[in-house]
Amino acid sequence: MSDTRYIRIFDTTLRDGEQAPGATLNRAEKLEIAHQLAKLRVDIIEAGFPIASPDDFEAVKAIATEVKGPRVAGLARAIEEDIRICWDAVKVADVPRIHTFISTSAVHMKYQIKKTPDEVLADTRAMVSLAADLVRTHPEADLEFSAMDASRSDPEFLAKVLDLAVQCGATTINVPDTVGYALPLEFGDFIRELYRLAPSLEDVHVSVHCHNDLGLATANSLAAVRAGATQVECAVNGIGERAGNASLEEVVMAIRTRGEYFQSETGVDTREIARTSRLVSSLTGYVVQRNKAIVGRNAFAHESGIHQAGVLSEASTFEIMTPADVGLADNDIVLGKHSGRHALRAKLADLGYTLSDAELGDAFKRFKEVADKKKAVTVLDLEALVSEEIREREDQFTLTSFVNQSGSAIIPTSQVELLARGEVKKGRSFSNGSVESVFAAIDDAVGISGSLADYQVRAISSGKDSLAEVRVAVEVNGRSFNGQAVSFDVMEASAKAYVRAVNNAAAAGEV
Ligand code: MN
Repeated sequence: MSDTRYIRIFDTTLRDGEQAPGATLNRAEKLEIAHQLAKLRVDIIEAGFPIASPDDFEAVKAIATEVKGPRVAGLARAIEEDIRICWDAVKVADVPRIHTFISTSAVHMKYQIKKTPDEVLADTRAMVSLAADLVRTHPEADLEFSAMDASRSDPEFLAKVLDLAVQCGATTINVPDTVGYALPLEFGDFIRELYRLAPSLEDVHVSVHCHNDLGLATANSLAAVRAGATQVECAVNGIGERAGNASLEEVVMAIRTRGEYFQSETGVDTREIARTSRLVSSLTGYVVQRNKAIVGRNAFAHESGIHQAGVLSEASTFEIMTPADVGLADNDIVLGKHSGRHALRAKLADLGYTLSDAELGDAFKRFKEVADKKKAVTVLDLEALVSEEIREREDQFTLTSFVNQSGSAIIPTSQVELLARGEVKKGRSFSNGSVESVFAAIDDAVGISGSLADYQVRAISSGKDSLAEVRVAVEVNGRSFNGQAVSFDVMEASAKAYVRAVNNAAAAGEV
């Protein structure tokens, strides 16, 4: 169909998503997610906010250098230093973008940026022009302008700002519902009104960025698509500031499932959705609720007998999409204990992992350990094991052994041995709880005093022989670091997850 519109998916998992409390990601983790977003074939990756800190700058630059396919954007306030630093971080990308923003609502102008409407117009002119000059030095670069708190702005004034931004060189104009205040019908009308008041919007891409404070982020984004928007900003699993952003998987699958209604399509490879969701959940420590649309554990589970019978005779009776559409179908048995190194290498290549020979050797050893204890090794198991292998590449601390004694009649005690920056370090502790004593023993060995902010255990698959995944959030010197690990043994997974958080703290210079 010739009039199908292409909707650009702008992923902000690594910028707005990472602003979710406690979702902090380090550079290696951001790169891992960015590579997966490229496999998911999003159109734009917003890699971070380069002025925010040297770490942010380096992470954005690393993604711009390494990750091929999607456009790589950096965020910048409409301030000269922000824009120049943002450009320095993204300009190495094949297709870079500066994304600059200024507030346009009365309440933001008065209290947040303390500028008059005329000053906002002047800044828009000056800063969008500056950013446009910078992106013109690169053949593929482009420029996005956002009006912060657009949905609570006076439409006439907002339209003036947007027209001006287009005149000064912005080619994507974003209309954010920054505080999640909009309602779907109203937001659709608002976008139509802006097209009417600011005719230059017809010449550029109109984008929306909706927050989920009223649970309406996806609905508002879709209303905007229906009203003419051609870019949606969203985050995997809907993470982000406060109640989060529009969730990528919901927006993409709604457009795909109801393509005829929207007369639209996206370029996302939906079969990568489930894996991307698991990766983001695991690295941010944000668990996906069971009944979450598209990516929740129960999203395709039919419980009632009537529904089950229907799906068995004809899937479309109760399924509007299939598990295969979102990449959930191949989670079953993949390898067994007789599978060899070649089979493992082939399966890992299918999953998109490229390992060196030494890493493959290690992965094979761990695979065999799992296969000996568990009849069928699934994609989920492999993913968990190999991800861990890859994340250990730059570790400064490795757990070499631990002993833990606990029970109802004794005080739990633990001893651990770590390889700490090449040196063997031992630690011991006794505490009220068994997990607590292992963590305290690691603190003793490393010489820190971490405080546990969050602790979660989950089975990777079903069955008593499942691998256990533990996620922790550990505060070191007032900063929070996530760690995750898998093992058959919950205590071992706990210890390794804690050591991973210590490594993340070390990478950030806190240990
Ligand atoms: Mn936001």
